[in-house]
Amino acid sequence: MAFIKINRDNFFYNLNKFSEKLGSKDKIAIVLKDNAYGHGLEIMAELSYNFGLTQAVVRDINEARIIDRYFKNILILGDRAVVNSKYSFALNSLDDIRKAQRGSIVELKVDTGMHRNGISLDELDIALKLIEDRGLTLKGVMSHNRSADELSSELFWQNKIFNQVKERVKSLGFKNIRFHSYNSASALRLNCKNQDLIRLGIGAYGYNELPEIYNKIELKPVLSLWANRVSTRRLKKAQRVGYGGEYTAPRDMVVSTYNLGYGDGWLRSNSFKVYIEKNLPILGRVSMDYISLEATEDEILIFNSVSRIAKEMNTISYEILTQLSSSIERIVI
Ligand SMILES: *Cc1c(COP(=O)(O)O)cnc(C)c1O
Repeated sequence: MAFIKINRDNFFYNLNKFSEKLGSKDKIAIVLKDNAYGHGLEIMAELSYNFGLTQAVVRDINEARIIDRYFKNILILGDRAVVNSKYSFALNSLDDIRKAQRGSIVELKVDTGMHRNGISLDELDIALKLIEDRGLTLKGVMSHNRSADELSSELFWQNKIFNQVKERVKSLGFKNIRFHSYNSASALRLNCKNQDLIRLGIGAYGYNELPEIYNKIELKPVLSLWANRVSTRRLKKAQRVGYGGEYTAPRDMVVSTYNLGYGDGWLRSNSFKVYIEKNLPILGRVSMDYISLEATEDEILIFNSVSRIAKEMNTISYEILTQLSSSIERIVI
């Protein structure tokens, strides 16, 4: 099978960049949802711990259980709130508040303009009252920005609305609440010194999806994908390769099969379009477990950075990374 190398130095380099911006490691909540963006949940949790992070964010309680020994607090974005002294649960609606177990620790998500999740502004007072009545402990109030990685000023009006939310929550007498709305792109763009916490995902893994004019902080990709050679053959001009014989050899050539396929999360729609790291085109279709390349190396680097592939595929780095199968072996270097 293909394998993945996780570059520890690059991960720490990226984390250092963000902790410099924040002035503290404790204010970084590393987002480890979806198998840590394909990097490997437990590996990235342990590296985060080694770096000195204390906060994490995951999607559900199963992910939290796997990594909870590494962190002081884990924010769970999409699961029912239950009592656990280490976990806090994002509440996305009034219904979430009603379903939460009495005594659980919660963080209220407020919709400041993304219109995906969170309670609306006119529900804020009702939600806060309900949280008290239901005997929940309010640890945080959060929001999410819809256009932080785009060339627009939307981020600023969302921030403005979130500031009004802060004032309202405080004026109702809630104390020791942490307020957070920044993801990687917001943190890269804005001053972070006044933030209680940032929820850091893609930036920690080395990608900066901001338009060029914002790019002041260089980050280093953490994951590289490799494949092993399975077999090699000599093709005569006009012989064809793989399912459907879609690739025709334009001349005599040496072709090897490598053990990476769509079963590993390397999408079949990557056929033809995508060149791997050394500018080698994939020959013909991607199969479940294999691709064919004009190469003979025993180990071949598929990518060091997924940016170019994502661009060619008309998607974002997140999608290519999270597709990578959790059963691919991951080695920390
Ligand atoms: C995934 C996620 C993040 C992290 O976003 P990045 O762009 O990867 O930094 C932050 N907050 C919430 C609510 C998320 O779902």
